[in-house]
Amino acid sequence: MTKTVLVAGGGGFIGGALVADLEAGGARVRCVDCKPVDEWYRVSATAENLVMDLQLLDSCLEAVAGVDEIYNLACDMGGMGFIENNKALCMLSVLINTHLLDAARRDGSPSRFFYASSACVYAADKQLTADIAPLKEEDAYPAMPEDGYGWEKLFSERMCRHFSEDFGLVTRMARYHNVYGPLGTWTGGREKAPSAICRKVAEAKLSGDHEIEVWGDGEQTRSFTYIDDCVRGTRMIMASDIDVPINLGSSEMVTINQLIDIVSDIAGIDVARRYDLTAPKGVRGRNSDNTMILDRLGWEPSTRLADGLAETYRWVYDQVASSAARTAA
Ligand code: NAD
Repeated sequence: MTKTVLVAGGGGFIGGALVADLEAGGARVRCVDCKPVDEWYRVSATAENLVMDLQLLDSCLEAVAGVDEIYNLACDMGGMGFIENNKALCMLSVLINTHLLDAARRDGSPSRFFYASSACVYAADKQLTADIAPLKEEDAYPAMPEDGYGWEKLFSERMCRHFSEDFGLVTRMARYHNVYGPLGTWTGGREKAPSAICRKVAEAKLSGDHEIEVWGDGEQTRSFTYIDDCVRGTRMIMASDIDVPINLGSSEMVTINQLIDIVSDIAGIDVARRYDLTAPKGVRGRNSDNTMILDRLGWEPSTRLADGLAETYRWVYDQVASSAARTAA
């Protein structure tokens, strides 16, 4: 029987890719986002596309009516520049997950609920050095997550767990680690490191001024997860029997300087770096420990960073070039 699936936040980067994948697999999709449809990253012609504010319980009740499964990817978020400066807005996303869970319980049709959590739930004292040990799922407690955004994610994970225990709703939670790829946010203040670096290198290539600004000293470490791996892992986790939050991230850790080296190689230019030590930088080191996902799913995100960045750079370069052409016209 054809499943009807709600993708909350389906107008966003990961949501848009998930909608495409679900439809390719034969699902009927209801896609809900608060942005006007012409601002969605991708718009499916066959999905039911609705604009609603899912912080409101009434909207959530309408959105979940009659669906079999819910993926909650709706969240007011962005890269470090956004989450360090908008902690209250980040925390208000708690209303989305809370009201979606409550609407699912009241409606009674949805049997499975996926929540997109984040590596920002991990305790700050486990991420103090660049050569950090990869973060295991249990490293989220004792709790000291990223202020604002991370607290909301950790609380919402707990909410999923208790709706499952108390009301029998099957909930699944993945902790995403820095997802990137084509069709992602690349400008405007909410972009994350990979697309921001791709944009800066593309601008350098197009302008001939080969110096770029880097946030921090460039020696902070991260791992980055390609969008196709994120979508695949999300679907596998949803279908699995894993009822605890699980890492969904690449374990290929690099410094931001190494990330820049890879992107400038792809672009075929050398870039000089101007370090801004006052800019938002986040934790010093972060990587994903994939023991649990390998053990439970026999799979882990495996797209090489250089391969994912090649696709991402090509796409971001085209956006930068066409936006420059529009400005010049
Ligand atoms: P995104 O910003 O592109 O997508 C989120 C979408 O939610 C946006 O389109 C936004 O308009 C929508 N939204 C916000 N408030 C809403 C509301 N009140 N009602 C309806 N829609 C609303 O972000 P993304 O990168 O696609 O992330 C998806 C999910 O994954 C989020 O929960 C995010 O916290 C989580 N996550 C993402 C990353 C990453 O690297 N991209 C990392 C960790 C966790």
